[in-house]
Amino acid sequence: MFNIIIFGKPGSGKGTQADFLKNKYDLYHISTGDLFRKNITTETKLGLEAKSYLDNGDLVPDTITIKMLENEVLSNKDVKGYIFDGFPRTLNQAESLDFFLESINLNISATIALDVSEDELISRLLERGKITNRSDDQDVDKIKNRFNEYNNKTSILINFYKNQDKFYSVDGKGSVDDITSRLFNLIDSLI
Ligand code: ADP
Repeated sequence: MFNIIIFGKPGSGKGTQADFLKNKYDLYHISTGDLFRKNITTETKLGLEAKSYLDNGDLVPDTITIKMLENEVLSNKDVKGYIFDGFPRTLNQAESLDFFLESINLNISATIALDVSEDELISRLLERGKITNRSDDQDVDKIKNRFNEYNNKTSILINFYKNQDKFYSVDGKGSVDDITSRLFNLIDSLI
């Protein structure tokens, strides 16, 4: 199995690129943000628990997030590999993911970061906020809070995966097609 983490700050294009990657490499795409939003829309217990965190641009507590991710993997086991999008976002999530995958005889093959500056990201997110109505994309303070969450809790994962020799980064600036080609080239060199 080929299991990848698509990594990067909010708005870096993880979801967009994950769609291309899942089709090209026949991977099952798990986006924790999408899962939370689906649960919020359908007003499940999980959605009610997560809602205020998403509204404020805070990370949802690990216990909730890790359980949701594990359930999603366990309910979709007959696949060629997974693409994890938006998970892990804390050291605890990353360690739990390794432990969990090992328990089902899997592991992470590569973590690939999309590298984009915060200035560029703010304008992308505000544009997305106009199209999707995502409230966390419509307010600069909420966007900045998400960057703070990334810088305080998520960016340490770069070293976590570097230490495992699994960290790669591609330039996330340019056209969607160009970025997709960079990712395909990188992944083709890894498999
Ligand atoms: P973006 O990458 O643009 O912030 P996502 O859809 O990945 O968008 O995430 C939206 C929100 O969902 C986050 O701000 C956070 O509240 C919640 N979330 C998503 N993934 C996680 C995670 N792994 N841990 C905690 N919270 C998460």
